[in-house]
Amino acid sequence: MRIVVTGGAGFIGSHLSEALLKTEHEVVVLDDLSNGKKKYIAELEGHPRFRFVQGSILNRPLLKQLMNQCDVVYHLAAVLGVKNTVESPLKVIEGNIDGTRNILELAWEKQIKVVFASTSEIYGKNEKLPFTEESDRVLGPPQVHRWCYATAKAIDEHMCFAYADKGLPVTIIRFFNTYGPRQTSTQYGGVIPKFIVAALNNKDITVYGDGEQMRCFTYIHDTVRGIIPCMEPAFDKHAFNIGTTYRLTINDLAYKIKELTGSSSSIVHLPYELAYGPGYEDMKNRLPDISKAKLMLGYSPKVNIEQGLLQTIAWYRESNPIEVD
Ligand code: UDP
Repeated sequence: MRIVVTGGAGFIGSHLSEALLKTEHEVVVLDDLSNGKKKYIAELEGHPRFRFVQGSILNRPLLKQLMNQCDVVYHLAAVLGVKNTVESPLKVIEGNIDGTRNILELAWEKQIKVVFASTSEIYGKNEKLPFTEESDRVLGPPQVHRWCYATAKAIDEHMCFAYADKGLPVTIIRFFNTYGPRQTSTQYGGVIPKFIVAALNNKDITVYGDGEQMRCFTYIHDTVRGIIPCMEPAFDKHAFNIGTTYRLTINDLAYKIKELTGSSSSIVHLPYELAYGPGYEDMKNRLPDISKAKLMLGYSPKVNIEQGLLQTIAWYRESNPIEVD
C-alpha cells in the first residue's frame, strides 16, 4: 500500500510511520512541523519507501497531489491539548474541522481509504463507564471553550460516518490517553510528560484538582498495534476504542513517576481554575470498553504502566528534557 500519514512527524504519527515501514508499505509523511519534529522521523529519512513532505492539511493543492498517489490516508494531524483548547479555540476548531473536511473531500474524489484519529474526549463527561463505541457524548455548553476540541472531533466523526454512508471506506479510532517517547508536554498539556520533566528536574509535580480523577494510560506501542489493522476494508464504517483498561488516579501516577525517577520533587495540588482558568471542568473518569477492538481487530494491549513509564522516562533522560519541553 502507498500510505500518507498526516501528522506523521508527531508523537503518534512518527511511531505509526516507523511501524508501517517495517512491513512492505510505502509511507509519505505530511506534517507542517507545528508540533511534530524532523528529528522524530530522522531515522526513517533515507529509507527507500519513505518520503517526508512539509506542509499543512489546509493546503488543498498539496494534499490533492499527495492523495492522488496513495491508497490509504492515516489522518492524525490535529490541533490538540487542553492548553490549546482553552486558550486558542479557533485554532482548535478550524484546524480540526477544516483539515478533516479537506481529507474527506479529496479521498471521496479518488475513493481512498481514510483512517481517522479521533479521541476518547468525544465521550465528554459521561459518567456511565466503561465507554462503548455507542456511548453517549455528554458535553458542556458552547460558551465554554473547554468543550471545543471534543465537539470539533465529534463533527469530524459525523463527517466520516456521512462519507462512509455514501460508500467511502473510513475507519475511526478513538485513542485513550496515549503516552510514550516523543510526547511533548507544554503544547499539549499531557500529564505524563509534564510529570516526568518535573520529576527529572526535581521540581514540583503539580496535580490538578484532588487528583482522584482516573485515566487509562496507553503506551504508544499498544496504540500503534490498534491503528495498523484499521486500514483493512473489513473495518470500514466502524469506530474503535483503542486503549488499556487499567485505571490509574492522577495522584497514583504522580507517586509512581516520582518513585521510578528517584526524584526529590514534591507532589503539590493546584485547583483547576488556577491551572486552566475559571469554570474548568475535568473528566472525572475515563475507561474504554475494548471488547469490539479485541473481537474484530484482535487488539490486546501488552505494556503495563511500569514498563511504559520506564521506557518513557529513559527517553526523557536521553533527550534533554528542557529541550523536549
Ligand atoms: N493533569 C494534572 N497536572 C498536569 C496536567 C494534567 O494533574 O500538569 C491532570 C488533568 O487535570 C487530567 C489528567 O491529568 O485530569 C490528564 O490530563 P491530560 O491533559 O494528560 O489529558 P486529558 O485526559 O485531560 O485529555
